[in-house]
Amino acid sequence: MPTRFAILFDIDGTLMDFHGAGRRSFVQALEKVFDWRDDIAYIQFHGNTDLNVLRKIFARHGAELTAAKQREFFAALAVELEQLAAGAASTRHPGVAELLAALAADDRVALGVVTGNIESTARIKLRHVGLHHHFAHGGYSDDHADRADIARAALARLRATLPQGEDFSAVWLIGDTPFDVAAAQALGAHCLAVATGRPTAAELQAAGADAVLPNLADTVAVLKILGLTPRAA
Ligand SMILES: [Mg+2]
Repeated sequence: MPTRFAILFDIDGTLMDFHGAGRRSFVQALEKVFDWRDDIAYIQFHGNTDLNVLRKIFARHGAELTAAKQREFFAALAVELEQLAAGAASTRHPGVAELLAALAADDRVALGVVTGNIESTARIKLRHVGLHHHFAHGGYSDDHADRADIARAALARLRATLPQGEDFSAVWLIGDTPFDVAAAQALGAHCLAVATGRPTAAELQAAGADAVLPNLADTVAVLKILGLTPRAA
């Protein structure tokens, strides 16, 4: 049986930075859909999930979040982010394009995203930095508020692409916050943490990441950590 690797990437802070466009899209969609003027300064976005954020906002407003309101808000959120993205600056973190190209070219590897974004906004963000073509599969926050549940959904989708009876021999989650480390642990996966988001390398180490790097710039070093040593010709 071939050795197979599932490599799951967080988006915000790990692959890219959208410089607050995600938060602005939330603020604008809240006003458009519910007529709430709320700067949501009480919300911490990094490492959070969109559904968890929306639940917290509803709790703050003493309102009941129904399935219909959730759907309506998430549809509006994607519209607002798409409009903001047109004029927004984004940063693709160093080395991620090269790393993803190397992983995509390796037939032992299945790539996925594990993100607190809903699927539509995750796709907008990945498209903005030119990385969307690497991620056919993933786990998103449309139906999950807990990042561990999002990670489980992503892995299940990757597993569904394998030939019957086969499984991954290694699963890695690459993220920038202790929440990614916790999700990897809940999944029984390894975690490579990168200090390109807000948490420091020391905080990521303390959270229990298997490996911590300042960024993903050194493709060879990352592949070595993942156990993807070049195969003999
Ligand atoms: Mg992140």
